[in-house]
Amino acid sequence: MNAKTSLKTTKSSLPPTPYYLLDEAAIVANMQIIARLCELSGAKALLALKCFATWGVFDVMQPYLHGTTSSSLNEVRLGYETFGKGKDSDNEKETHAYSVAYSADEIDEVLSYADKIIFNSISQLNAFKEQAAAKGIPVGLRLNPKTSNSSFIIADPARPFSRLGEHDKDKIAAVLSDITGVMIHNNCENDSFEAFSDSLADIEARFGDVLAQLEWVSLGGGIHFIAPDYPLEKLAERLKGFSEKYGVQVYLEPGEASIHGAGSLVTSVLDTMHNEKNLAVVDASIEAHMLDLLIYRESAPIAAINKESINILPVDMAKTADVVDNTIIYGRSCLAGDIFGEYALPNQLQVGDKIAFGNAAGYTMVKKNWFNGINMPAIVIRRLDGSIDVQREFDYQDYKASLS
Ligand SMILES: *Cc1c(COP(=O)(O)O)cnc(C)c1O
Repeated sequence: MNAKTSLKTTKSSLPPTPYYLLDEAAIVANMQIIARLCELSGAKALLALKCFATWGVFDVMQPYLHGTTSSSLNEVRLGYETFGKGKDSDNEKETHAYSVAYSADEIDEVLSYADKIIFNSISQLNAFKEQAAAKGIPVGLRLNPKTSNSSFIIADPARPFSRLGEHDKDKIAAVLSDITGVMIHNNCENDSFEAFSDSLADIEARFGDVLAQLEWVSLGGGIHFIAPDYPLEKLAERLKGFSEKYGVQVYLEPGEASIHGAGSLVTSVLDTMHNEKNLAVVDASIEAHMLDLLIYRESAPIAAINKESINILPVDMAKTADVVDNTIIYGRSCLAGDIFGEYALPNQLQVGDKIAFGNAAGYTMVKKNWFNGINMPAIVIRRLDGSIDVQREFDYQDYKASLS
């Protein structure tokens, strides 16, 4: 049975706001770039489910990717069931398992879904390697190169005292006979090829002898190679050279790059007010529905107003204290700083206007929550043929069931 059909309510028209709107054509455009990178470099690409796990669009992603990677038991199971061998036993797609820390009572189940398992530390490796070996599952270890390309300390795997991976080369060398590969994830939306290449060079200088004894190396996610001006060929060449030099299969784990620009959060203006600037309140919330905006202190671009595509970038609120014509769009939670952004808009917003915030596919749906009991946005998919599927709607019972 295709699990997808059990939850889907196919409707031809759009539901009431708020809803996340995913555009399969935009996802496929990203997929084609990933597939090209893989073709040119020989790397394999795994979707990082922690960024995006809306499995209702996996059918259009599957032809381009080599599988999924995960951060927990639930994610590895989802990857196995919706993308990997659990979906179809002839399926070649790989399901990678990784977690910052596995518990002893979940490891057998994790292994039952995994084609490879990557441990975060040598102690976890030692605790579970025999169970993995008994099932014939190849084992990897996460390395921490102590350098990174992340402009946010909260998202920096190489932050001081980091728990993400092993850094001591001697200790790593001592467990080489237990592993066939390593995973290194130290980029975060890094759009500079030079910065990526330099940090790979650091990794080579630090761990070159280790790499030469492995079969595979995953370089994680966070490489923003889908940017229109990214030198994709150079990246491919660098990865190919790396792979040939050490004799390893390279994996990439794109999360954001897989779905960047492919989703929006469509909302309606519920109220307008004035307090030195124009204010509008929409029927969604950044804390509940686009949480990363809050965590990283960022604002959302506007992708459409009243269905008219438009690209309005937010202004830097720190610099616009006296620009009274601007409009601040707030979420409807009671958090004072629940702000989608401040914008210079062509027209004043009116109650009932529809605002679509852009780039709302990654790190949004996977983090949504019921703060304030606010209506959960539906998940709507614009299929490749242009038809609209209301994939999932949420109601009071879902809110109630999320607590007890
Ligand atoms: C977060 C993460 C990814 C995906 O990162 P993106 O920035 O979304 O590409 C890949 N691998 C690991 C280990 C991660 O922690």
